[in-house]
Amino acid sequence: MPTRLTPRQILAQLVSFPSVSRDSNLPLIDWVEEYLASHGISAHRHYNDDGDKAALFAHVGPWEEGAVVLSGHTDVVPVDGQPWTDDPFVLTERDGKLYGRGAADMKGFDALSIWALVEAQARGVNRPLQIALSYDEEVGCTGAPPLIEAMQKVLPKGTAAIIGEPSMMKTVTGHKSGRGYWIDVWGHEVHSSILHTGINAIMEAAKIIAWENEVNAEQRAKTPSPIAAMFVPPWTTLHTGLIEGGTAANITAKHCRFDFGFRAVPDETLDDWHVRLMAKVAEVEAEMKAVVPETRIDVTERFSVPGLRPETEGAAEEIIRQVTGDNATHVVSYGTEAGHFQSAGYSAAVCGPGDIAQAHQPDEFITIAQFEAGAAFMDRLVTRLQEV
Ligand SMILES: [Zn+2]
Repeated sequence: MPTRLTPRQILAQLVSFPSVSRDSNLPLIDWVEEYLASHGISAHRHYNDDGDKAALFAHVGPWEEGAVVLSGHTDVVPVDGQPWTDDPFVLTERDGKLYGRGAADMKGFDALSIWALVEAQARGVNRPLQIALSYDEEVGCTGAPPLIEAMQKVLPKGTAAIIGEPSMMKTVTGHKSGRGYWIDVWGHEVHSSILHTGINAIMEAAKIIAWENEVNAEQRAKTPSPIAAMFVPPWTTLHTGLIEGGTAANITAKHCRFDFGFRAVPDETLDDWHVRLMAKVAEVEAEMKAVVPETRIDVTERFSVPGLRPETEGAAEEIIRQVTGDNATHVVSYGTEAGHFQSAGYSAAVCGPGDIAQAHQPDEFITIAQFEAGAAFMDRLVTRLQEV
């Protein structure tokens, strides 16, 4: 008999792999694949272009459409510079909490999903269960689209995707969309005493950043739509969190780079917002070129995460509600892979153990109570799949 691990033993294994997004996740994937194989479950891999990361997906139960899909990401954020009490890559129990990088976001759910898949295989289910473990979620959810495409080619299509980002086991049916860019402003250097003959890239960038403040104020002032009203804040936000540029106090800056991001309520499209951004960029660029024609602004998309639109009688929401008994509606303002699943034709909702407030923190933890609530959820889910 192959060894059956408890959810907590699986979590300890997953945490022991330092699968920070910038590094390979293959040791973790190797372990999961071997563990599933030891229980008679054959998993499939989808590699990234560099071949140093892989997503993993698997199917248990009748070979037919209609699976419940458990979706998690395997990557975690770095621990550099964070004051951790213990080794972040060793699962450590203290005061009713399990500490470790990824304990909440979201190896706790990954461990429970792996446990549930093996459980479903052992008990036998009438409705299939699938698992989808991605990479590169923490760098803009860029690993999910290729994973979803790959699994649709190999497995019968699932209908209800449960994305286990930490929600304190509440049913989350909506989140904002997000898109991030690098904006590079290329100016022209002259001595600052004759700045009218140069183009200061920092001061041109400042025009776009000032516009972000104006748009935020305008969005805040308008009456939110019914969907927007579910969110905090109930409007689309524009943000810049990083900026660098310039070489000296008395030289007009040749280059300025800053990040730019939208978080849009689900009934507004990122493409419409993109058009507004590009119109502003064109306006500023025209002013620059009027002085020095060789100057320009480059806009590079870093990531784009579709929003999760609340569904009417969605299959994912329905199965979560059946299992949790939670009939309340919740939305969140952070992006998840749920938007990608929904865009690919799945019903999708977010439900996972732990608190998002713990995500990315030093001494990240999941309470044992939350982890056990997650395990109880999986146990009842497998029971339901046996019954249908
Ligand atoms: Zn996450």
